[in-house]
Amino acid sequence: MSFFETARDAYELAKKGMTIEFQVKVMELREQGLELQEENLQLRTRIRKLEEMMQVKEALVFRDSMYFLVKEGKDEGPFCSKCYDDNGKLVRLHALHDHDIESTYRCPVCDGYFGRSSRRSLDM
Ligand SMILES: [Zn+2]
Repeated sequence: MSFFETARDAYELAKKGMTIEFQVKVMELREQGLELQEENLQLRTRIRKLEEMMQVKEALVFRDSMYFLVKEGKDEGPFCSKCYDDNGKLVRLHALHDHDIESTYRCPVCDGYFGRSSRRSLDM
């Protein structure tokens, strides 16, 4: 029998002739039970988020100053290392199509540049 079923049964018994004070106490017990249920739900949600963060962290590979998610042997990304290291957010980098820049990515959030970052020299 769950905590709430017990409290409900106790309340029903109390209504049949127990004192008003007892009924009040049982009501308090039910309210406290609801608060515990809410706290339990919040903690479960937090644990699930932390487990998801741990799974991401375990699958991240740092390469060429960028992060890649390795899933089933395949790379996903690249993602911004600054945004992930600062606030834990995976921000997909955008490839630049500027011919003056060689294989460079730009972060749309922090505006960082990644990849083979050196610009081609102008005399090429
Ligand atoms: Zn960024």
